[in-house]
Amino acid sequence: MVFTAPEWVPQLPFDIPDSITIAEFMGSDKYGRHPLAKSKNPYTCGLTGKTYTAVEVVRREDWMARAIAKRLGFDSLETDATEWDKVVALFSFNTIDYVPFTHAIHRISAIVTPASAAYSAPELELQLRSSGAKAIFTCIPLLETALTAAKAVGIADENVFILPMPGFDKQVPFSTIDDLVEEGKSLPELKPLNWIKGQGTRQVAYLCYSSGTSGLPKAVMISHYNVIANTLQKTTYDSVGRKVQDIETQVMLGLLPFSHIYGLVPIAHVGTYRGDEIIVLPRFELKSFLAAVQNFRIQQISVVPPILVQMLSKREECAKYDLSSIRFIYTGAAPLGVETVNDLLKMFPNRNIGQGYGMTETATVVVSTSELDILVGSSGSLLPGIKAKVIDFNGNEVFDYDTPGELLVQGPSIVLGYLNNERATAETFVFHSDGRWIKTGDEVVVRKSSKGNDHFVIVDRIKELIKVKGHQVAPAELESHLLAHPLVADCAVIQVPDPRAGELPKAFVVKSLEAAQKSDEDTTKAIHRHVEEHKAKHKWLKGGIEFIETIPKSASGKILRRVLRDHEKQSRKAE
Ligand code: AMP
Repeated sequence: MVFTAPEWVPQLPFDIPDSITIAEFMGSDKYGRHPLAKSKNPYTCGLTGKTYTAVEVVRREDWMARAIAKRLGFDSLETDATEWDKVVALFSFNTIDYVPFTHAIHRISAIVTPASAAYSAPELELQLRSSGAKAIFTCIPLLETALTAAKAVGIADENVFILPMPGFDKQVPFSTIDDLVEEGKSLPELKPLNWIKGQGTRQVAYLCYSSGTSGLPKAVMISHYNVIANTLQKTTYDSVGRKVQDIETQVMLGLLPFSHIYGLVPIAHVGTYRGDEIIVLPRFELKSFLAAVQNFRIQQISVVPPILVQMLSKREECAKYDLSSIRFIYTGAAPLGVETVNDLLKMFPNRNIGQGYGMTETATVVVSTSELDILVGSSGSLLPGIKAKVIDFNGNEVFDYDTPGELLVQGPSIVLGYLNNERATAETFVFHSDGRWIKTGDEVVVRKSSKGNDHFVIVDRIKELIKVKGHQVAPAELESHLLAHPLVADCAVIQVPDPRAGELPKAFVVKSLEAAQKSDEDTTKAIHRHVEEHKAKHKWLKGGIEFIETIPKSASGKILRRVLRDHEKQSRKAE
């Protein structure tokens, strides 16, 4: 059975443009943008109130693009140069310049690879190397890490640039975005892009990293068309029966990292297209978050479940702020417990709480809660243009409701594949007689709501991915890192539940002969240190380390994670 969007969901209002950049789509009235989008300031700093008007943003993007093309030598590249010769990395906390900067890069037919601000230098180095980045744009608090990684891959200091961050005024010998804007003002106008028909479906806009269903993090090729499609799909879905032009715009929270697909597409791009005002916060800190909601009268907060859990545990702190502007609480990127929803409804009575479901490889939302039909525990219904089917564990299509299986989806926002990784691409993006589908690696059931709509409930994750506060942790990455330690003979990493983070990574370790000379306590400490010195904080083994005799594996050598997860469940029950 192939599922599609419920009947009440309007069709997309026009064909998805396939030969323009994302910014052209965002900036043009031709594509049904909300009329207010021109008069509202798209990005405002939630800490300082610094902002630019929509018109200023577009002009700054153009000036930035002129200066970047010149500084990086992109303007003198051979005519047969492709976007692959023009990849730049963006390693920064959220700022009001973040997304406009990416549009400036697109204006010169180049690619942005956004890197998580949580990354350590070796993690960033890997991304710079595998994406072939020629330059890095960063911010002062991350500069040291950026410089270490840049040096390791041979990016010269003159190709390091700074995005201004509130509270960090230190003078450094690198050009800032504002310097580039000033410089661009006196440079000649850029030639029009004139993309050929269909170019937007092939040309990559963003290279975001995801480990997908297994293995190490990989560069996900997200086209201009993918982002435009999802922006249009989500906006149309949320418009519920009204024309796209008539959707109410709103004040929205821009807290989730724009380096992650959830912050980048459904918050930044959907918000900009719709004419929302996005209140940008560089990172989560309870007081500044609550103050921003109060001061800017934020109506929609799009967050990850651990932030809601923290709000619930700090009710007294929350009560000191006027949060009455919040109308809709929207989460995604990780499972949201039914209990959390019920507790939130007590704290925020008469508000809507919903979820979005998607992944980097579906760029982004394919299932979303409509405020008109909320089924607690479900991630909502399919967006227009998305098709879904459920496959049971014997590979057969599921035809019944409430029967679990893996979710497969199809639609215009499904990405091009993984860069330089045909094997992973072929394993994840599969061809059936009815087209190309992505295997999500998520276990779902489809359930009918009281209004008769098909709802998708994510019940488990089949793939190897661990989600810590919405961040990806790839077990394979931690396992290969642990195996490099002399005290580890073999290992496996799985997720364990955690009330605050959602999940945490836990390592099962078989000790090496060398470890036999040491106490378990010393070995444990050494392994923790090995991870903490090289990996981002969300990858630390806060779920613990357990020593075992052997790692359960299949005949072909695949780790039997399910056995370890069951073992973990049993031990937790026994406690
Ligand atoms: P990412 O590519 O980092 O966005 O991770 C995508 C994965 O996060 C999905 O395949 C799911 O496993 C998980 N995920 C995203 N949204 C939800 C949701 N609403 N409920 C449960 N899991 C989710």
